[in-house]
Amino acid sequence: MYYSSGNYEAFARPKKPDGVDSKSAYIIGSGLAALSAACYLVRDGQMEGSRVHVLEKDSVPGGACDGMYYTSVGYVMRGGREMDNHFECMWDLFRSIPSIETEGVSVLDEYHWLNKADPNFSLCRATEKQGQDAHTDKKFGLSDKACSQLMKLYLTANEELYNKKITDVFDDEVLNSNFWLYWRTMFAFENWHSALEMKLYMQRFVHHIGGLPDFTALRFTKYNQYESMILPMIKYLESFGVQFEYGVKVENVTFDISGGRKAATGIEVIRNGAEETIPLTENDLVFITNGGCVENSAIGSQNTPSEFNKEIKPGGGWDMWRKIAAQDKSFGSVYAFRVRTDFKTAKRRITPCFRGFPARGK
Ligand SMILES: Cc1cc2nc3c(=O)[nH]c(=O)nc-3n(C[C@H](O)[C@H](O)[C@H](O)COP(=O)(O)OP(=O)(O)OC[C@H]3O[C@@H](n4cnc5c(N)ncnc54)[C@H](O)[C@@H]3O)c2cc1C
Repeated sequence: MYYSSGNYEAFARPKKPDGVDSKSAYIIGSGLAALSAACYLVRDGQMEGSRVHVLEKDSVPGGACDGMYYTSVGYVMRGGREMDNHFECMWDLFRSIPSIETEGVSVLDEYHWLNKADPNFSLCRATEKQGQDAHTDKKFGLSDKACSQLMKLYLTANEELYNKKITDVFDDEVLNSNFWLYWRTMFAFENWHSALEMKLYMQRFVHHIGGLPDFTALRFTKYNQYESMILPMIKYLESFGVQFEYGVKVENVTFDISGGRKAATGIEVIRNGAEETIPLTENDLVFITNGGCVENSAIGSQNTPSEFNKEIKPGGGWDMWRKIAAQDKSFGSVYAFRVRTDFKTAKRRITPCFRGFPARGK
């Protein structure tokens, strides 16, 4: 895998890769990760759009980035995206995606102009006693001891944090502070979540800390993320001729594991109620979104919490991962995320497990 960073890499246009005209891609899922993969394939990889196939089990694209009206409950969005000015890959991509609202501008332009004109901030960061200002007054309320616990976690090696909870690394000095109130209400942490996850979030979002007490760290899209992000990506990809198939459930990806390498050989799908296998050749690339943060989501209400459901549903992303993982232990363990519910199931830790698996022969 080739990693790059910085605008030296971002602003240069890549040369057309050798042999790309004879390659095809199969992308499983159509969430943000899958659509980004497709956009990069056509923009930077310069793959012919008609050779890119997106297989989605649902009837609409977007995965967790949805916004839908249900007659029985009203308007539902399974997640609200808070973004910032260091979403390096995302903004790099969205500078190329045309707005579907304003001709001649990109989604990034539109987003940037909106957040300049209408920056996010809160005059009252926390309330108590049914709506009274809790007067956190932009203070972090961290003692020297609490600061030292935060610094220590930041500098601890990942391996030393395996199987530890936040309460193993922070005591009440941190947990009763305003800092912790700001942090956990922004990033959805429970005290029993993973200490490693907390460390990774601190490293990833260290630039957010100054904007935690009043939400100035955050940027928002104009509409919900389905309309502001997913639809423009779909239109962009359609303009290249990318093939979208909805209602196609991927049951499994089979691998030939021999000679020290793994090559995908077939994609087992259910299409129109019938089982089929898409055979793969050396020229096919497969991109898999394994697991999924909203697959088992349930709807709650003002008075009822949503149900916590650990079941691995047949034909979903977790079930597919379970079947893939059964072929080789290096494909990870789905059970780590299902059974260990006393630890936060990391959005970030799930998705990088599979990135652009070359098919047979590569
Ligand atoms: C409540 C909530 C709040 C969040 N807040 C933020 C935030 O503030 N800021 C932020 O940056 N991120 C946030 N996130 C995280 C972000 O939304 C997700 O990380 C991102 O949308 C995940 O995209 P994805 O493509 O990896 O997966 P998903 O969106 O889960 O997409 C997976 C897709 O694959 C499809 N699929 C699964 N299995 C199969 C199969 N077997 N066959 C075919 N298709 C299949 C699914 O239907 C789905 O469309 C939040 C998430 C949630 C749930």
